[in-house]
Amino acid sequence: MEDVLREMKNQCKPITLMGDGRSDSPGFSAKYMVYSFMEETTEKIVQVQLVQKTECSSSVAMEKVGMERALDAIIAQGLSIETVVTDRAPSIKKLMKDKYPSINHQFDVWHVCKGLKKKLLSLGKKKGMEDLLLWTRSITNHFWWCCQHCGQDSSVLKRRWISLLHHITGEHEWTVEGETYSCSHGTLTEDQCLRTRWLQSGSPSFKALKSLIENKFLIRDLEQMTQLKHTGSLEVYHNVILKFAPKRLHFTYDTMLARTELAVPDHNENVGRFQAVTREGVLRFKKIYSRTAKEWILKSMYEKKTNHYARELMSRTVENRTDINFRSNISRNVHPVSIAPEPAPSTEELLSKRRSRT
Ligand SMILES: [Zn+2]
Repeated sequence: MEDVLREMKNQCKPITLMGDGRSDSPGFSAKYMVYSFMEETTEKIVQVQLVQKTECSSSVAMEKVGMERALDAIIAQGLSIETVVTDRAPSIKKLMKDKYPSINHQFDVWHVCKGLKKKLLSLGKKKGMEDLLLWTRSITNHFWWCCQHCGQDSSVLKRRWISLLHHITGEHEWTVEGETYSCSHGTLTEDQCLRTRWLQSGSPSFKALKSLIENKFLIRDLEQMTQLKHTGSLEVYHNVILKFAPKRLHFTYDTMLARTELAVPDHNENVGRFQAVTREGVLRFKKIYSRTAKEWILKSMYEKKTNHYARELMSRTVENRTDINFRSNISRNVHPVSIAPEPAPSTEELLSKRRSRT
């Protein structure tokens, strides 16, 4: 990670960081939170912090602590940060506003699309709202398109996003305060108009969709989604963490930290691999059945992963064993933050206390 940061610093360009927290289990039972920052252009991980439950009051607090520590560590390296991209967690939003006001804070569009899709799928399960399921993909695509083509103008973004409420009822030209607007899709054929299941304005599906689209928090947050920033590639890295630290197993802090840190060189060494080709030079794909899309899709296959970092780590380990300061370094650098307010007394002292109690 230090190498990547040094390289960035030498380039003297302000960087964009994508951050996200990952719990080892959902909800309040999470024992650890890994907060990671990825640099946008290289997609390499530049900082990781492991926070344990005992340090915080909740999993929300764990994410904030991890994010703050990670960002401070990068700033301490002297890098100039232009933009930070995160999800819309209110605690992170407040932290960015209060502590780092000079950094442009953008919200992750990919997370918002994922959230919209989840809400639409759940609404579509309700009686009389099944028609929303037919529109789920178009709505999330439209959200992405609005962020992509707003020219970094939040008023254009808001207007286009809300305009979906016209299109979805089959109305492609409308007037607001004397100004006429229209959809950007061009003229639809008669067949397209007849085959599309437009929503009825005023129907339960339309009303539910309207409140979702016009949600005041979403509308307010559009101000920070004008640059189409997203953390989708962090998911790839989160899957690497899963390989080293599977969720079904429990680890001590030291072990979890080591496993989390191992995922970083594994990811950084293999990020940006080219798509694999056959001997004839044809790009390779694999067929996958998508449960969410309920259809077969093609996924690109990439060149084989390498792990040169492992060899380097092994030789460094051997070097460390010959270093007389090895043990003291380990205890200083890797030991978790203790929850005890004072150091542990000697075993003899504790034994005598124990005897006096019995
Ligand atoms: Zn339209």
